[in-house]
Amino acid sequence: MSLKIALLPGDGIGPEVTEEAVRILKNVAEHSGRAFSFSSHVIGGAAIDGEGTGLPERTLEAALNADAVLLGAVGHPKFDGRLPSERPEAALLALRQALGGFANLRPAIYYAPLAKRTPFQPERVRGANLLIVRELLGGLYFGEPRGFEASGNTAFNTLIYSRHEIERVARVAFDRARERRKKVASIDKANVLETSRLWRAVVSDVAKAYPDVELEHVYVDTAAMRLATAPASFDVMLCDNLFGDILSDQAASISGSLGVLPSATIGGKVDLYEPVHGSAPDIAGKGLANPIGAIASAAMLLRFSANMDKEAADIDHAIEEALASGARTKDLAGPGDRVLSTRDMGQAIEEALHDVRDRKHSYHGV
Ligand code: NAD
Repeated sequence: MSLKIALLPGDGIGPEVTEEAVRILKNVAEHSGRAFSFSSHVIGGAAIDGEGTGLPERTLEAALNADAVLLGAVGHPKFDGRLPSERPEAALLALRQALGGFANLRPAIYYAPLAKRTPFQPERVRGANLLIVRELLGGLYFGEPRGFEASGNTAFNTLIYSRHEIERVARVAFDRARERRKKVASIDKANVLETSRLWRAVVSDVAKAYPDVELEHVYVDTAAMRLATAPASFDVMLCDNLFGDILSDQAASISGSLGVLPSATIGGKVDLYEPVHGSAPDIAGKGLANPIGAIASAAMLLRFSANMDKEAADIDHAIEEALASGARTKDLAGPGDRVLSTRDMGQAIEEALHDVRDRKHSYHGV
């Protein structure tokens, strides 16, 4: 049976980068014998323009009926004056809520060819390849009660977690670690917060089912320091909603450009894959967008929604090889570098994917 992928290209550079991700997925389909079916639907500003709402019923239905959703980005400055609920971004929040994913996965990888783009000294960041698993539906961002007191001079939020919420996201982190370097760092503030003490106890309980995975508990402040000084010491970082929001952006600096960062939101009715960047209206329609974040998101889709680990790893290697061979979009280019268009970068990665496969075949052949 074919894997049903709902494409929601969205606004700005969303359609440009999604097209390159689809190019790679089609190439994988051709070489793996696995069938994918694609259907494309409007969301965000494009949907407001065409259908009067950012998340049309048909789009939502297609997403809920798909095996996986691949999204580009939403947002356009022409909606800036509108109420938050009427902006394209509200459609993405509504989609995420409807799909119900509770675990947000964001890898941060150091690409040696991009050494000059990162704020790190190469010797500090060499080998860094980590995955942040962030709890997405609970914690401080959703806890009740919340609000302002009548005076307007006092405001409050509630940080609340239940065993069930912690258990399910912890299992995602341990499952992912099993496929990687088998290390989980669980991030908390257990010296101050009761929720963190529960977090620590529950994660320790979950760890008992994963004796092959090494667990360490790290205070969030220590984790921030270690991310800045020794990011390669982390494999999987398991975080609550607030800590994960902050640390995932800090970790993103390892890669050197917003354009290369992928994400997955899993655990709900249908898993959602999207690059971390926005619609980048400043470069939209000019062929300047870096498609790597979207292509790496497609690789995550293959890994988590299609059980195609090998093919996903090939794409990750192809991205590294294309970068190593000097392929650069404008955001990655330094003086003297030849700048590729979005499409040319997609093609360079597709060619590198052929090379990665060819090498594997000749290796297995001897
Ligand atoms: P942005 O991520 O769109 O752009 C920030 C900067 O990074 C810009 O200079 C842009 O040119 C550059 N950039 C981003 N992606 C790139 C890529 N793939 N290749 C090369 N350069 C890239 O963030 P912003 O400017 O704050 O927001 C623009 C719009 O996108 C807003 O409407 C915002 O609300 C929306 N947004 C959407 C999402 C999403 O859809 N998930 C995420 C963030 C922002």
